[in-house]
Amino acid sequence: MKKLLPGDILYFEEFKKYHKNIRVGIYIKKGHVYSIRFDTSEHGEYPDRWIRKGELLDYSGQGKKGDQTWNLYNSAMRKAQYEEYPIKLFETLHGNPMRYKYYGEWYVINSYEKIFPSGQKLIRFTISKFPKEDLKKCENEKEVILKLSDDLKNVSYDIIEPPNRYKATINRVIRDTQKANQLKEVYNWTCQICNQRLPRNSNEYYVEVHHIQPLGGKHNGVDEFSNMLVLCPNHHALFDYGVIGIGSNLEVISYFDVDCKGKKIYFREDHKLDPAVIDYHNHVILQTS
Ligand SMILES: [Zn+2]
Repeated sequence: MKKLLPGDILYFEEFKKYHKNIRVGIYIKKGHVYSIRFDTSEHGEYPDRWIRKGELLDYSGQGKKGDQTWNLYNSAMRKAQYEEYPIKLFETLHGNPMRYKYYGEWYVINSYEKIFPSGQKLIRFTISKFPKEDLKKCENEKEVILKLSDDLKNVSYDIIEPPNRYKATINRVIRDTQKANQLKEVYNWTCQICNQRLPRNSNEYYVEVHHIQPLGGKHNGVDEFSNMLVLCPNHHALFDYGVIGIGSNLEVISYFDVDCKGKKIYFREDHKLDPAVIDYHNHVILQTS
């Protein structure tokens, strides 16, 4: 087999020497994902989309009908994400004859489930041209990562989860961004539940910002005001541990005996929470017993 170079265009006969299981987009060889075939055209069986053309791809998992599951192929992809090994990437080019463009060896950097408007559950993978190591070496690492998560927000079906490959960095970066501080300023450094303001010294105060749907990782929350509360450390802890949640009238709800139960959470007029993050917290994080 000749050594492939990124940009090479292969005819079917040659393509199948590399991607041997031509029936599926994910070809597994000896337990590892060897190659991936994607299709961003309207002919595609699955909705594969560029997040950033030539660099970052939102890729559909395996499974044509009904909900996609963590079957052999999709599980192998997720394993590839954790093992961080490179995978040959090919694009289907429609025409007569069909051809396949080789993009080089790419990396699975994220995986998650997404319910589509049709109600179908799809497994999505974020596939990146860049390995983690290169990003680390990059001087503008923060910029690259923030840009990547920005790009993710612009994908047509509102994929807003940052790749969890970058989770640690994103958490660090995002927590340092202006956004949380801006919101603290808006609330004059007071807790939205108890209205307390803790002095740090004679002219500074201490307050925390809680991300209702936690950032990154399996929760994949976003760093937006619609996902934030300004809280004192006590109320922040109660939220983190799922002791308290948010009711339909924006009041504190809890299945435990806590002082703030039933208390209306104070909101500035221009600060609106995304109902989806409240729902997420109340269903995934809130403890019910
Ligand atoms: Zn408080």
